[in-house]
Amino acid sequence: MSQRDYYEVLGVSRNASEDELKKAYRKLAMKYHPDHNPGDAEAEQKFKEAAEAYDVLRDENKRARYDRFGFAGVQGGGGGFNSTDDIFSHFGDIFGDFFGFSGMSGSRASEGADLRYNLTISFAQAAKGDKVTLSLPKHVTCPECQGSGAAPGSKVETCRHCNGTGQVRRSQGFFQIAMPCPVCHGQRKVIVKPCARCKGEGMVVDTRKLEVHIPAGVDTGVRLRVRGEGEPGTHGGPPGDLYVVITVEEDKRFERQGQDLLCHVEITFVQAALGYKTQVPGLDGDLPIEIPKGVQSGSILRLAGEGMPYPGRSTRGDLLVQVNVRTPTHLSERQEELLREFEALEDEGLVKKAQKKMKKFMGL
Ligand SMILES: [Zn+2]
Ligand SMILES: [Zn+2]
Repeated sequence: MSQRDYYEVLGVSRNASEDELKKAYRKLAMKYHPDHNPGDAEAEQKFKEAAEAYDVLRDENKRARYDRFGFAGVQGGGGGFNSTDDIFSHFGDIFGDFFGFSGMSGSRASEGADLRYNLTISFAQAAKGDKVTLSLPKHVTCPECQGSGAAPGSKVETCRHCNGTGQVRRSQGFFQIAMPCPVCHGQRKVIVKPCARCKGEGMVVDTRKLEVHIPAGVDTGVRLRVRGEGEPGTHGGPPGDLYVVITVEEDKRFERQGQDLLCHVEITFVQAALGYKTQVPGLDGDLPIEIPKGVQSGSILRLAGEGMPYPGRSTRGDLLVQVNVRTPTHLSERQEELLREFEALEDEGLVKKAQKKMKKFMGL
């Protein structure tokens, strides 16, 4: 799921003031408020989206991190609020004078963001199921500087360029416009000696290992949900979930049709006419198959229960065997002679059949 830029969500510029953010958010909250749009899921989604954007941008620290690291800087973004009740309690101060929800200052707990992990597995792993250890990248507060970005023991000084206002003013004609300070990037403070571990960013990428069970029979596009393994929640809220999105590599012996597998077997036209015993590839090794006498090219034979397992069940799909009859391209003289003789017999047979029919018709 793609996520829209927070500034875009609120429809404000990247250097919007606190007041502009508040106004923009209130306007959206009014428009998409669930009381004004009963049963409208899209409005509810927009209402939540706006709340999340405003929640990040109104907080100076979170906004600075979002500007520098994007969604990763604010714990991956994504679904901070689960219900409109969360939003009301969270922004009680804002709704207070608009909707009369004053005094709503409940818990600010919110669930952590969900994470997505793309995992490619082999065909055999999909067929048998497996346990896979994932390495999950994770942005964490730098343990060296506790997130300040300054080397331990060094100082964080007030920016002299902007005198700690975070802004500089430029004259443009008659006007003066405020711009973020180019030295401290609006942070008001400068790091004299950046932390060596995080290069002054305050965050580092950590990895953690997580073992995930892949059920037998999964297919490309399956999302496995691992509860509680997303980003941590805030203010004691529960963590989000991890979604492992599966891609299964192809196996050139089989075409997958859901839980059924299709394979091909090629036989000669004599084998087709007389019947033939052979073997086809199966998931647990080769399988014997008896091709019946008189099979037509393109026919599909079914080996029940020899396909892919149904995830979480003990049953399996079928193995479909498509029979292709090969027509010979090089015949010896003797073979050709025999085939002509065969054809003549066939014609003779047809003539006899026709004569019989005629006699019957004539009442003879
Ligand atoms: Zn650091
Ligand atoms: Zn500055």
